[in-house]
Amino acid sequence: MHLCDLAPAYIRAIAPYQPGKPISELAREMGLAEADIVKLASNENPLGISPKARAAIAECLDDLALYPDGNGYALKAAIAARLGVEPDGIVLGNGSNDVLELAARALLGPGTSAVFSEHAFAVYPLATQATGAIGISVPARAYGHDLAAMRDAVVDNPRDDTRVVFIANPNNPTGTLLGADELHGFLASLPAQVAVVLDEAYGEFLDEVLRAPSVDWLAEFPNLILTRTFSKAYGLAGLRVGYALAHPEVADLLNRVRQPFNVNSLALAGATAALDDGEFIAHSKAVNDAGMAQLLEGCQRLGLGHIPSYGNFVCIEVGGDADAAMQVYQALLRKGVIVRPVANYGLPTFLRVSIGLPEQNARFLAALAEILEQA
Ligand SMILES: *Cc1c(COP(=O)(O)O)cnc(C)c1O
Repeated sequence: MHLCDLAPAYIRAIAPYQPGKPISELAREMGLAEADIVKLASNENPLGISPKARAAIAECLDDLALYPDGNGYALKAAIAARLGVEPDGIVLGNGSNDVLELAARALLGPGTSAVFSEHAFAVYPLATQATGAIGISVPARAYGHDLAAMRDAVVDNPRDDTRVVFIANPNNPTGTLLGADELHGFLASLPAQVAVVLDEAYGEFLDEVLRAPSVDWLAEFPNLILTRTFSKAYGLAGLRVGYALAHPEVADLLNRVRQPFNVNSLALAGATAALDDGEFIAHSKAVNDAGMAQLLEGCQRLGLGHIPSYGNFVCIEVGGDADAAMQVYQALLRKGVIVRPVANYGLPTFLRVSIGLPEQNARFLAALAEILEQA
């Protein structure tokens, strides 16, 4: 018997996460220069990193022989001060992916289940499955979370074993947004022993009026776990840093399964400085708003539909079936433009396109127009 056959069946059944194609890989495959490739595939910040973060990281280079501060004192203090929370309610992660995993590992296991929406972020089923818990995918409504159906999935579950509900708001890859009242009602309707992980990875791209007062809800709902990241608006995806906000006892639980030095020194320094760079965040949002308008206008010109999105990306319907959408994806690659197929999210006729700089968006639209003309 092979040793892999002895691994738990739920581990062997995991379908690996499919990341966006790296620029270096496409350059190798197509013989293109990296500089000629436009990557709009991973919702990265096209502006790069905040100048303040860059300076803080540079200053840190001399200290890399030392272990990082395993408690992330300075970053937690900065987050606490900014959001008006206590540092002991913060859990730092190697990306918010890490804190999603910590929540799953701390709260799930064989004999339990987690609820999430159809078309929701792929990490929720993966993190769930890795613990041996069952993932319950609830059909979406208009591509978004159907909170009433998700609540029913928890409350009417005959096994009564749901421990975690994952919600992305806005959701990736659909970009759909739940209203604050709707979310608050959902939290109030759930049993207190069911954790709600509310993933706000794209919160910084929302207009002020659309932002839920989710941090205020932490005092009301000790079962609420908020997750946020420095990978998107803050432009630090390569550094890997994110965090969770939770009731201090829940944060303590998550911290027990956390690796002692899960966030590296450069990430701690970069994130602490980035948090202070309000100007960069405002500029990122402005570039995103303008880029979204540019892409949507281009899609309209091409007669293509899309899912209205509140993130830094949009799903565009490019084909009548999965094969047609994949053909467009491949043809874009040949023109040096990387976007993201989302068939694995149950959206086989769409491609997800991240919002880039004006010239990158124009390059994508021009390539798409050429491809559709020839089809
Ligand atoms: C990108 C993304 C994250 C963040 O991942 P990191 O690990 O912080 O880079 C989390 N949730 C959703 C829904 C995302 O799209």
